[in-house]
This record gives sequence, structure tokens and C-alpha cells, in this order.
Amino acid sequence: VMHVEDISERKALEARLTHQALHDELTRLPNRALFLDRLQTALARAARDLAPVSVLFFDLDHFKAVNDSFGHETGDEVLRVVAERLSAIVRPGDTAARFAGDEFTVLCEGLDAEQAVGVADRISEALAAPLVLTRHGEVALGASIGIATAGPGATGETLLRDADMAMYAAKEAAGTSYKIFDERLRSRSVARLDRERDLARAVERGELELAVQPITALEPGGGRTELEALVRWRHPIHGLLLPAAFVPLAEETGHITDIDRWVLQHACQAAARLGAADTRVWVNLSLRTLGDPRLVAHVLGALDAGGLTTTGLGLEITERAVVEGGDDMRETVAELRRLGVALAADDFGTGYSSLAALIDRPVDVIKIDRSIVAGLPAAPSLAVVRAIVAMAAALDLRTVAEGVEREDQLDAVRELGCGHVQGDLLAPAMSLDAVAEHCAAGASAS
Ligand code: C2E
Ligand code: CA
Ligand code: CA
Repeated sequence: VMHVEDISERKALEARLTHQALHDELTRLPNRALFLDRLQTALARAARDLAPVSVLFFDLDHFKAVNDSFGHETGDEVLRVVAERLSAIVRPGDTAARFAGDEFTVLCEGLDAEQAVGVADRISEALAAPLVLTRHGEVALGASIGIATAGPGATGETLLRDADMAMYAAKEAAGTSYKIFDERLRSRSVARLDRERDLARAVERGELELAVQPITALEPGGGRTELEALVRWRHPIHGLLLPAAFVPLAEETGHITDIDRWVLQHACQAAARLGAADTRVWVNLSLRTLGDPRLVAHVLGALDAGGLTTTGLGLEITERAVVEGGDDMRETVAELRRLGVALAADDFGTGYSSLAALIDRPVDVIKIDRSIVAGLPAAPSLAVVRAIVAMAAALDLRTVAEGVEREDQLDAVRELGCGHVQGDLLAPAMSLDAVAEHCAAGASAS
């Protein structure tokens, strides 16, 4: 008897564990693993029976705001209610799952896209009813729903990707709660994937190039030649691309850390070529790169390879990142500065930080954004630049005016006491060969 009980107990335990592994604890809905499994089975069956299979994919509008302002407990409550409502409206044979976070998926066997719209409508209706929270009153929820139906050769992965893509299209299109995936969306997503793939290979294929732009001291004093390193991508089909065309995607996908590392290495080599002792090269780092725990090692490696000391390098970080960066980043930046690397607050004046926010930040240089410089010499811009320069002087920081394109702007920043200027008027971004010539010409002119 004992033995039999043991077995049935073990069976029950096993069943419980299996259930736990395949269901989401919070909402009790099937989880991602179970959903993927059922999707696989459904696709296999569909291929045999030539029956359609549709997937609906959605996340909740404003969920992040609810979570952030009311706390996780309330967020959990919302997810539970959504799960209940969802369970109430799906047909018995369909699978509604909590896919991840606030993402939900529904698998509808035997429904084509048009029929799946009926399910999408029911979901929208169910979510539209106001949700009364135990502690925080009422919230309105909504969802944008993506629908994809399996075509020939569809895999679970492509189907989910299509539905996800359609969801984003639904979010973008005002006034609709759902979108059916179609070929137009497919070409858009394929184009994006292509670009992502190209970007992933750009570094290893040697498609990146370095441009440099001199930063000129307004008080001639025989300091180092200062240059900002600016990345370019020579795309095999699209030709030479400026950062605006690929840096945002690289930041989103994380490839920016590799790109920044490449620039760091090549900037140090460039400085070595121009004369390590007389050159300081400035490199732009994205917030993502600053969060890379290997950054300090990469910096030291790049300096070493170029035979540079740390004083030959400066790092540019946007004002926003300087002010908003977390503790990790602050730690990394502090370490780099202890080592002797200079730091600049880039694009200063575009963030929403107050001047005072910089007081306890570890920077050596403020780069006044070109949108402010562009307004010179009109009075409002004069006032802003004057304030920035005064503050910088009080904090013992240097200032660089960016994007100086005209003589009257140059006169204005000189008058206001900016130490350095950078811009097309004195020297645009150029190749390394050109900068060597530029420096030689500058040296013989002075
Ligand atoms: P940024 O850091 O503000 O760099 C200065 C930008 O202003 C450069 O554009 C430069 O060519 C441009 N510029 C310089 N003088 C003038 C001028 O007189 N007038 C005008 N209108 N523009 C001028 P670029 O090279 O297109 O770079 C754009 C941005 O891309 C940079 O802005 C920087 O934020 C980012 N970036 C560039 N290289 C890198 C990199 O290696 N890593 C990362 N993470 N970002 C980079
Ligand atoms: Ca910069
Ligand atoms: Ca800048």
C-alpha cells in the first residue's frame, strides 16, 4: 500500500511540476514555452489538413505607466485581470498565453485572418471595460493587436515575428485596434532585418571608416592638436552613410558597443600617426557602451596598441547621459577619469537638465550644442551661451562651441569667452590624410 501511495504522490508531484513549467504563475495562463509547443503542433496539423492557423499578438497600452506610477503589485493585478478577461473570450480549442511581460498571444486553429479579426474585436471589447483596482481607482486599458496567418512554409518563429510586426503597425496607425500582417509589412520588416544583419557585419567586414574634425583653440597657446573622431559606414550598396543613418539602429540593437570600440581603437591609432604626444583625440560613446563592463579594459587596450597615454584620449558623452546615467556608468566614468582620460558633456543645452545639474558631474569640457550656436549672434542665444560659459568658468571647465559655420558666430563665441570652436567654418570633418595636411598647414601658418 505504501508503495502505491508513493507512486501516486510522485505522479501528482510530477503533474504539478509539469503544470508549473508550462504555465505562468501570476496569471495561470499557458506560458511562452507551452504556447510555442502548441503553435508547433498546430502548424504541423495545419500543413496536413490545409487548415488555416492564426496568431494574435498584443501588449497593453500604458502598462509601463501603470506599473511605474502605481507599483508592481498593481501591475500584477492588471495582468491578472487581463488574463481573466482573455480566458473568458477565447474559444475552448484556442490557446491564450502570457508570452512575456505584458505581452499576450492567442493561437486560433482553423481561423483565417478575417475570422481572427472577430477574436481581436472581442479582445478589444473585453479590455475596454474600465478596470477597477483595489488600491488605485479606475484605469482604462487598451491594446493594439497584430494578426498573422500561417502561409505556406510558415514556422512558429516567422508567424510570431509577423504578428509582432503587425502589432507595431497597429500601434502606429491611429484609430485602429488591430492590423493584419501583409506583404507590405513583410517587405518593411525584411528591409529592417537586412539592415540589422548588414550592421552586425559592418565591423568585421571592415566597412567602417573614421573621419576626424579638428577642434580649434581660440587662444593660440601651443597645446595639443585636438580632434573629434566621427564614424562613417561605407555600405556596399548604399554608399557612405553618416551616423544619423545607422547609429540609432545600432543603439537599439546593441551593435553600437562594437562600433564604439572600433572607433576607439582607430582613433587611438590615428592619434599615434599624428604624433601621440601632441594630439588628443575625442571619441563619442553611447550610453550603451558606457554600460559595457569591459569598457575600461577596451580603453586601456586601445591606448596601449596606439602607444598613447591616457591624456591623449577624451570621451564625449551626451549631456543627457552624463546627468541621467546610473551608478554603474558613474563608476566606470570615475575610473576612466582617475586614469587620466578627459570627459566632455556633449550636445550641451539640448537636454532638459539645469546648468546646476552638472556641478557634481565628472566632466572637464562642455560642448555647447550647435543648435544654440546656430542662433548666434541673436540676443537669446547670446544670453544662453554667456550663461553656459560663466558657469563653466566657475566650475573650472573648458567650453567648445560646436557647429560654428559663420564668421559672426565665431566672433560671438570668441567675445563670450569660449575657449575652443569646432565647425565647418574653420575645419569640417575630414579624412585622416586631410587632417594631417590641415595640421601641417596650421603649424606653418602660426
Ligand atoms: P556630435 O557628437 O555632435 O558630432 C558633431 C557632428 O556635427 C558631426 O556630425 C559633425 O560632422 C557635425 N558638424 C561639425 N561641424 C558642423 C557645422 O559647422 N555645421 C553642421 N551643420 N554640422 C557640423 P556627424 O559626423 O554626422 O555625427 C553625428 C552624430 O553621430 C555625432 O554628433 C555623434 O552624436 C554621433 N556619432 C558620431 N560618431 C560616433 C561614434 O563613433 N560613436 C557614437 N556612439 N556616436 C557617434
Ligand atoms: Ca561629439
Ligand atoms: Ca555634439
